[in-house]
Amino acid sequence: MNDQQLLRYSRQIMLPQIDIAGQQKLLNAKILIIGAGGLGSPAAMYLAAAGIGQLSIYDDDQVDLTNLQRQIAHHTPDIGMDKVISTLNTLKKINPEVKVLANKARLQGERLLNEVAAADVVLDCSDNFTTRFAVNRACVTAKTPLVSGAAIRFEGQISVFTPGLHGSPCYNCLYQSDGEELQNCARNGVIAPLTGIVGSIQALEAMKLIVQTGELLVGRLLLLDGLTMEWQTMRFKKNPQCPTCGQVA
Ligand SMILES: [Zn+2]
Repeated sequence: MNDQQLLRYSRQIMLPQIDIAGQQKLLNAKILIIGAGGLGSPAAMYLAAAGIGQLSIYDDDQVDLTNLQRQIAHHTPDIGMDKVISTLNTLKKINPEVKVLANKARLQGERLLNEVAAADVVLDCSDNFTTRFAVNRACVTAKTPLVSGAAIRFEGQISVFTPGLHGSPCYNCLYQSDGEELQNCARNGVIAPLTGIVGSIQALEAMKLIVQTGELLVGRLLLLDGLTMEWQTMRFKKNPQCPTCGQVA
């Protein structure tokens, strides 16, 4: 680290849990972010500010007026622009040192598996069940840690999956794929700061994974009711019959 980096990250380096060694791990880390919307915006912005070495971002959508109420990486002049480009521009302004890979695509198939295998941590910031289950499958196969978040109406959810660790449950242990289609913001609405809270927690859990400090939300689903401001933790275990990870140790 040079003097500028020591200054830029000084408030983080002074934390004994991070220190110089932890900051160096963050600078060397590669994080894959799937979705540049309500959750992906704050997650990517905090991870860029915190000095993650490389952020690879996937989204196939363009910025729409209805996004701006909560997707804070995008600004009014960005309407019509690819979300990954708008996000790239925002992240470069926050921290030009971070390598940002802007991929305008829906990540799937072999490319999904390759990207997940190349990442130290994956953030699922998508808004549909098909993507969530596919990302989970790839993370189980590649044994890459997954930080999952969701925000709808006034309700937020976050959990962390570490498929490389023995007995660690996966997303499919928690949710069954034959369930109803994930409720989305277009149909149900979402209160703006909730996406910021959930995306920020995803960024924090990703950093803890990289630095290997604290206790992760593994086997725990953190639930926030923004109306009552009550937090709940639901504990869950690996499902031995899980179609995704049941055969994996
Ligand atoms: Zn499972």
